[in-house]
Amino acid sequence: SASPVTVTVTGAAGNIGYALLCRIASGQLLGPDVPVRLNLLEIPDAVRAAEGTAMELADSAFPLLDSVTVTDRAERAFDGAGVALLVGARPRGKGMERADLLEANGRIFGPQGRAINDHAADDIRVLVVGNPANTNALIASAHAPDVPAERFTAMTRLDHNRAVSQLAAHTGAAVRDIEGITIWGNHSATQFPDLTHATVTVDGSSRPALELVERAWVDEEFIPRVAKRGAEIIEVRGASSAASAASAAIDHVYDWVNGTQGRRTSAAIVSDGSYGVPEGLISSFPVVSEGGAWQIVPGLEPDESLLPGAGERLATTVAELESERDAVRSLGLL
Ligand code: NDP
Repeated sequence: SASPVTVTVTGAAGNIGYALLCRIASGQLLGPDVPVRLNLLEIPDAVRAAEGTAMELADSAFPLLDSVTVTDRAERAFDGAGVALLVGARPRGKGMERADLLEANGRIFGPQGRAINDHAADDIRVLVVGNPANTNALIASAHAPDVPAERFTAMTRLDHNRAVSQLAAHTGAAVRDIEGITIWGNHSATQFPDLTHATVTVDGSSRPALELVERAWVDEEFIPRVAKRGAEIIEVRGASSAASAASAAIDHVYDWVNGTQGRRTSAAIVSDGSYGVPEGLISSFPVVSEGGAWQIVPGLEPDESLLPGAGERLATTVAELESERDAVRSLGLL
């Protein structure tokens, strides 16, 4: 059988962490025959709560779960890690400026990047969930010079899944009949969920999504709703989304490790300059996973002729990523 993989989860005592851990331990992150060793990182005040979750993991008697370690020391948490889910982050407090938020997160993700550099396994795969996720991933990567930049990614899979679900509901299709949606850019309100190359299978034949929906629905409902779905969940549920965020994190890592068999999805990965996104930014692209690595799929420029303004939407979200990068650079965090 496969040898065990060490999976590190930061912010393990938080809401998303709670929704993630049983799924990882049950084999849904890496597959049904890969044993896992869970390392849970928390800040000192939350270590006890994480220990409580570790007790629940023990009580679940997962056959694939080899061990659980709870710690507040990054070097220990990332020791030998093959997968790292960076969930813990500093939330925006009242009256906090953007620079304060970026700086507070720089103090978290810089040292974690360094600990990954020095202690993780050679084939470490990092997914950043904690916001601002793209820029936190950039900071971590900058502090891990020995780890290839391709191994630091940020999560836009939840945005992708939300977009798939919205299109399916609106067209009356099943989720499995939707293909080719791309989330571009930043995991923020500027993200561009792009339907210009999406298809919906109707009665066995594949149709362009934009032939099945009204332009007004795309501009006025679909795009803003996907981008603001987090706020909608808070309003209805009375708390942040956690299960869906955890589910998207599982999807991202599972696909990264096991491949997507040609099926496209969205992930924020380091730019090679594709689509005019400056090299080195961690931006969401249309991707497939092959041989254990994400590949940007070429030839899918947002189609202006199908959706006027599509090119500008991509440019806007990329400009926001550049401005976040410039801000953390001027704070000395890169
Ligand atoms: P959550 O577990 O709900 O969220 C964690 C992070 O994920 C936040 O940055 C949140 O961003 C982000 N996020 C990304 N996508 C989503 C989404 N769709 N829905 C909701 N959140 C999303 O936060 P909690 O406050 O419950 O828990 C955070 C934990 O992290 C705490 O236990 C804290 O102690 C810990 N922590 C650990 C650190 C460490 O290990 N070194 C460092 C800092 C904190 P947003 O704020 O924008 O919603």
